[in-house]
Amino acid sequence: VTRHTTPPPAADWALFLDVDGTLLEFASVPEAVAPAPGLTALLGSLRERLGGALALVSGRPLETLDRLFAPLAPAAAGLHGLERRTAGGACTRVGLRVPAATRAELSAFVRRHPGLVLEDKAATLAVHYRAAPELGPVVDAAVGRAAESLGPAWHVLGGACVAELKPRAANKASAVEAFVREPPFAGRRPVYLGDDRTDLDGFAAAERLGGEAIAVGERVAARWRLADPPAVRAWLGEILLALGAPASGGATR
Ligand SMILES: [Mg+2]
Repeated sequence: VTRHTTPPPAADWALFLDVDGTLLEFASVPEAVAPAPGLTALLGSLRERLGGALALVSGRPLETLDRLFAPLAPAAAGLHGLERRTAGGACTRVGLRVPAATRAELSAFVRRHPGLVLEDKAATLAVHYRAAPELGPVVDAAVGRAAESLGPAWHVLGGACVAELKPRAANKASAVEAFVREPPFAGRRPVYLGDDRTDLDGFAAAERLGGEAIAVGERVAARWRLADPPAVRAWLGEILLALGAPASGGATR
């Protein structure tokens, strides 16, 4: 049994939320996930209460985040920070692409191994093995070889039943650091929630910036912990209640 431990909520927080495994339960294939009823509205209310300082920080492309959380379109980092949209809606993206030969190689590898799923995000390639966990080491090795062949600008990011070939140019830490330099995040205390190794960068950045890290589940450790996505959603609801209505103008709903 996971003991819930969370910091006392404060109106000066900036919330950074991983998506899969944190806000949303995993599904056998990444396309099959969907927000629980009411989650999008809850995130909208929290964002309003925090003066706009709520961002999604995910390995998913922004486009997918927007489809999942429509009509919210919050500040967000996609592709582990390779894409980023400010609270004001300005987008930046790292223009690297996985080379065609590498893509062909890894898709042939995935075809040879039933149970694997290739997620092609253009700038990154993720090989998921949730349906065939015994293939984890084989996947790590194959994606590792691909990264090595591309040189030092690329690396493998290991997550929950996934190995992802990705440029080193950005990560979840650089995303958090970029957000906190901008309004409405600047001057607030970053609080980062995440569930896997890709979030350790985000945890470290939040703590370096005087904030808090909250691990979801047992895959990673942080100062604070919540058990699973339902516990995260319940806790977000509690924060909203604890903080009450927005203190001053700007709220329109
Ligand atoms: Mg996650």
